Amino acid sequence: MNRIVPSECLPLEEERSLIEALLSRTPFSSSGERLWQIVYPGYSLARFDISPGSTLDLHLEPAGDPICPACGKACTHIKDSSKRTVKEASFLGVERTLVHLNIRRVRCNCGCRRTERITWLDPNCRYTRRLASEVQTALRSGRSISEVSCSFNLNWKAVKGLDKDQLKFLFDDPDVSSLRRMAIDEFAIHKGHKYATAFMDLDAGKVFYVVKGKTQNAIEVVFQWLKDKGVADQIECVAVDMNAGFPAMVKKHLPKATLVYDLFHVMQHFTRDVLIEGRKFLFKEKSKALSAAAEAEASNAGSTPMDLRKAKREAKKELRGAEWLMVRSIDALLESARERLGNLIKDNAMLAALYPIAEQLRGIWRAASRENAAALLAELTELLDAIAEQFSFQPARLFAAMLRSRSSGIVAACTHRVGTNRLEGANNKIKVLKRIAYGFRDFEYFALKI
Ligand SMILES: [Zn+2]
Repeated sequence: MNRIVPSECLPLEEERSLIEALLSRTPFSSSGERLWQIVYPGYSLARFDISPGSTLDLHLEPAGDPICPACGKACTHIKDSSKRTVKEASFLGVERTLVHLNIRRVRCNCGCRRTERITWLDPNCRYTRRLASEVQTALRSGRSISEVSCSFNLNWKAVKGLDKDQLKFLFDDPDVSSLRRMAIDEFAIHKGHKYATAFMDLDAGKVFYVVKGKTQNAIEVVFQWLKDKGVADQIECVAVDMNAGFPAMVKKHLPKATLVYDLFHVMQHFTRDVLIEGRKFLFKEKSKALSAAAEAEASNAGSTPMDLRKAKREAKKELRGAEWLMVRSIDALLESARERLGNLIKDNAMLAALYPIAEQLRGIWRAASRENAAALLAELTELLDAIAEQFSFQPARLFAAMLRSRSSGIVAACTHRVGTNRLEGANNKIKVLKRIAYGFRDFEYFALKI
């Protein structure tokens, strides 16, 4: 079964950026080739293509001798090889990615005759570890096994296994002696109910405690544990989700810590509450316009009636996934995705108005000072209000109001980035969240099922 091994992979978001950046710079220079080896150790990129059905095909070929799974040595004798196609996490905004490669069986001096060791792909597995990690992330965000199974096009049993793995893997007793900046994050284990709360050391990039539930009683156990460890007073800042109920408890137990809101969650709220709502809003408007046009045509004898259902389906397809193109930085998008984004913005005035917001949000967390961050935040919320007004789009106003009511924790975020050496700014949180996949402390999956 898949277990995501920290030493063998970068955080998913970082890997994705690297892969996407490399794909936009083919053919590779020698340094490009070396970088590719970070994300697909042992394999080079022979070619790749993006089909009209929105599938990215990566064709890989061995970059050297296969590694023996038994003794770990490179092996010059190959027993045989077979073609394999495996599913990969999706890149460049396409719907799915497939990796095609030749997998070799070794004939090693140690006597081993098994399939070569590939760090990013488990033996006999039909999907990469990256995809496994992405599936686990989706499960942690509260989506059900069936839903994740459907959207990643993986069978239910495989998804269930990945869920179980991430919940079962236990942590060693964590060292929190140098804990300074931490994050608290609640996440649903099963859709709509059964929560867990994770405590992370932002500088070490590790989850140090996970408790079942998100109630005060559940969480106070951890604050008490931090006091017992003698580190409660050294904690400088605690990053939390804007909507979580932790602030009062943090103030009570960690009086010296500043409460900050992290960009990761704010982006999540922005995507869900504004961009996805915006996409639905635009579809409704288009749908209405199409119905009206169809009616007008029907009363006009002699003209061929338009296929209304087909037109609506196409309108929906055009907008699908718009939020993901809009929330990511432009550098992370390949030419084709940029082109799609360009068309979306050209055709939809509201999307054009909303487009700069994601970058402006990132700017607040990167601000050089609190004053600077406060000014940027004021500018941003005004823009959101103006968009709400211009397009009669309430979600923008609600999001602006939420940002304003949390302004002190947002503005404080930029100063607490200072002094980190291993992890920077808001990316920290994303990396750290990926690492939840590496395990949990304190409880097991089966206990949760009771
Ligand atoms: Zn061997």
